[in-house]
Amino acid sequence: MIIIDGSAGEGGGQVVRNACALSLATGKAVRIENVRARRSKPGLMRQHVTAVEAACVIGNAECQGLHIGSSALSFTPGRVMPGEYHFAVGTAGSTGLVLQTVLMPLLLADAPSRLVLEGGTHNMLAPPFDFIAKCFLPIINRMGPKVEARLIRHGFYPRGGGRIEVDITPSPLQAIDCVERGALLGVSGHALFAGLPFEIAEREINVVRRDLGWSEREVCVRELPEDQGPGNILLLEAQFEHGTEIVSGFGQLGVTAERVSKKAVGRMRGYLESDAFAGPYLADQLLLPFSLAGGGSFTTVKPSQHSLTAIDVIGHFLDRRPAFAQQPGGMHLLSVG
Ligand code: AMP
Repeated sequence: MIIIDGSAGEGGGQVVRNACALSLATGKAVRIENVRARRSKPGLMRQHVTAVEAACVIGNAECQGLHIGSSALSFTPGRVMPGEYHFAVGTAGSTGLVLQTVLMPLLLADAPSRLVLEGGTHNMLAPPFDFIAKCFLPIINRMGPKVEARLIRHGFYPRGGGRIEVDITPSPLQAIDCVERGALLGVSGHALFAGLPFEIAEREINVVRRDLGWSEREVCVRELPEDQGPGNILLLEAQFEHGTEIVSGFGQLGVTAERVSKKAVGRMRGYLESDAFAGPYLADQLLLPFSLAGGGSFTTVKPSQHSLTAIDVIGHFLDRRPAFAQQPGGMHLLSVG
C-alpha cells in the first residue's frame, strides 16, 4: 500500500483529493497519515469527507478512517462505475473540490457520466465555478474528453445551496503542449453580489477601472437573487487565443470592497505581465491530467507549494513524474516524461 504523509509540503486537502483520484485512476491502494496537518483545523472537514465519499461511490472503494476530524485515511479502490451521481456537501463546502476528486477517474471510465453537485460554487480557497468552466475544462476538452459544466444556482459561504451539473464523455487523455498563450483577445471584470448592498460591487469595479484601466464596456456588476446570498465575488478574466485566466477576489465580512478588489487586481496584473500559459492555480490543477496523459507540457509562473506537493503525490502513483524547469525570463516549463 502507498503511504503518504499528509503533513508534507502544502499539507492541505488537495493531498487527500489527489491521492483518492490517483488511487482510482491507477487501482493502487493508499493510506494518508497526518491529514491536513498544516491547516489551522487539521484533519478531515465536512467537505473533504464528502469528496472522499464521492470517490468511494464512483469507484466502489473501501475506506477506513472516513469521518470529520480524522487524521488518517486508508483508501482501497474498486472498479470505477460511470453513471448518474448526486453529491451534496451539507455545508457550503466547495462543489469544485468534489469535482476535482472524481473527474479524473470518470474521464478514464468506459461510458459517460452525469454529476449533480450541491454546496458552494464560489468559495474562498477553492476554484470558483467560472474558473472551472472557462479556464480548466477547455484544456481537458483539448486533451480528448468532452466535459460540460453548468451553473444552476450560486452558492456562497456560509449558506451554500449552490448547484452545478457536469456531463462527462470520457476518452483517453492525449498529451498536449500549452506553451504559448497567444494574443490577448479581451478582458472582462464581473462583480457578483447577492443579498448585499449594490455599492460593494460598484466599489470593487471602480478599483478595477482605476488600477487596471479597464473600460466601462469591459466591466459589469451583476445582482443575483437575494436568496442565493449573502455573497460577493469579483471575477477578473483575461481571454487569450489559447487559454483563459480568471482571478478572483472573495468578498468577506470585515474586509473592505477596495481590499478585495486590489488583491484580485494584483493577481491579474501579475498574470498579464508574465508570458506564462497557466496561472498558479491552473498549474496545480493541470498536473493530474497531464501526468495521467503521460506527456505534454505547459508554461507557468513560479510553481506554488500546491504544485510541488501535487508532484510528490503523483510520484507515489505514476512512473512518469512531472517536473518544472526554470526558463529565461522567470517562466517555468512543466513537462511530463
Ligand atoms: P487545498 O488548499 O489543499 O484545499 O487546495 C485548494 C485547491 O483549490 C487547489 O487546487 C487550488 O489550485 C484551488 N484554488 C484555490 N483558490 C483558487 C482560486 N482563487 N481560483 C482557482 N483555483 C483555486
